Order: sequence, then structure tokens, then C-alpha cells
Amino acid sequence: MPTHQDPFSRCKLCHEDDSTPTYQLGKGVIYRCPHCDFHFLNHLDGTTSKEEASLSADGRRYIKSRITEGEHLHPLRLQLVQQHCSLAGAMSLDIGAGLGQFMLLLQQQGATALGIEPSALRRAYSHEVYGLELNPQLADDDYWQSSYPETFDLMTLWDVIEHVDDPRSTLTAAATLLKPGGLIYLDTPDRKVFSYRLSQIVNRLSGGTIPLFLSHFYSSLHYGHKQIFTRRQITALLQDCGLVPVPVLLDGPANRAFSRKIVLAAHKP
Ligand SMILES: [Zn+2]
Repeated sequence: MPTHQDPFSRCKLCHEDDSTPTYQLGKGVIYRCPHCDFHFLNHLDGTTSKEEASLSADGRRYIKSRITEGEHLHPLRLQLVQQHCSLAGAMSLDIGAGLGQFMLLLQQQGATALGIEPSALRRAYSHEVYGLELNPQLADDDYWQSSYPETFDLMTLWDVIEHVDDPRSTLTAAATLLKPGGLIYLDTPDRKVFSYRLSQIVNRLSGGTIPLFLSHFYSSLHYGHKQIFTRRQITALLQDCGLVPVPVLLDGPANRAFSRKIVLAAHKP
């Protein structure tokens, strides 16, 4: 019988109760669920931010140093969205908006763009540099759930679902906010990439002593990666939320840019 003393024995994905510590990292342990094979780190951010709310000189420098990180993906993401979605007049919500750069692209296409960003530092920077008002309330917060049900034509979670404490709750909440006929898009690291699979093998052969590249995939830092999905797992999770996957065409530059990621779209019937 499970002891229920270890909060991480409960699988975040299928909620079965006998996940076990499987891959020991320098900081933290990856738990594995024997039922659905989900891998997740024994770390949660919780509800309190450890950041300063005001934008200090250090904070501004830090954001500036990372401003171009992943930025090249946004125009490609816009093209993906435009495969299925007409943006003029659309209501959109970007969950994990970062500095709001993707929202700016949506606005240029005539969409109304709202955004959620838990990092106070990023919200402050986005306001200062782009004049955007990002929301701190997460998608499952009453702020959205009671005032914005079935509101959005488009919702996006770019590089987000691997960061959240509870991915099932985040996507369930997102599905509630989506209009019937609306579309949700996400991308997230792919657990089936060679370096992850090789790391699993090396770890097994070394009797659990060598994590190899696994520590590159996870981080116990605030807003770090807490879970890495397989395509099958994240697709099934979207379906559990009542969403229907839609084929995404990745060609040329997009195919190269997203080669280590899973990119999914789904619509709400
Ligand atoms: Zn599970």
C-alpha cells in the first residue's frame, strides 16, 4: 500500500498513486509513473513568487540579456496559427506570455491580445518597453474562470506546459476559457529526442549514477521545467480536456526550428 507520505508519488498526469523516484539529478529527482510513464521533477513553484515586484537595474539587465531567447520562434508560431485561424477581430489569450512579444504579433494582425505572465519581472519589463498590461492571474484563477468562460477564439501556450506545477489543471482551465470552435496551440520539449533517450539508457546502465543530459531537461529553479512530455501523453491530455487535435503542417524553417519540440493544435468542438 502507498504510504501517502510522499506528495510526488501521485502522478501529475494520470493521478495514480505509485510514482517512484527514478532519475537522480544534481538538484532534484525525476519521478516516473508506472501506469502512464509520465516523468516529472519533485519540485513545485507554489503560488508565491520569490521575485521582486519592481524592476531593478539588475532585473532589467537580466531580462535584456535573455530577450532574444526563443524570439526567432514567434514569427514561425504566427504562421502556424494562421494555418487554421483568422486573426482579424479574434480574441486571444497567450498563457505564459513572457515579455508579450507574441501578443504584439497578434495585435499587428488585428487580434485583441490578452496575456498571462506569472513573473512580476517580465510583466514590469513588458509594460515599460511595450506598454502591455499582462495579467498575473493564472488560467485556473477565478479571475479568468468566472469572467472569461468560452471567450477566446485562440489560446497559445508556447514553451509553457513543461513549466507549470499542474499541467492537467492548466489545460482544463484553458479549455474552459476557449470558445466552442476556438483553437489552442502549444509547443513543448519532446521527451523522445535522442539525448533524452540516450540519457535514460546510460542512467540505467550506470545503476542510476549518471544522469547524463537529463539535468538539462529539468530545473528546480522558479519557473523551471518540471515535466517533459511525449507526444502521446500531451495529445491524450488535450483530448481529456475535451479538445480535438488538428494537424499542424511544419515545413522548411519551422520544421528545423521545432525539431526538438512537440507542436500541437487542437480545437474545441
Ligand atoms: Zn501516471
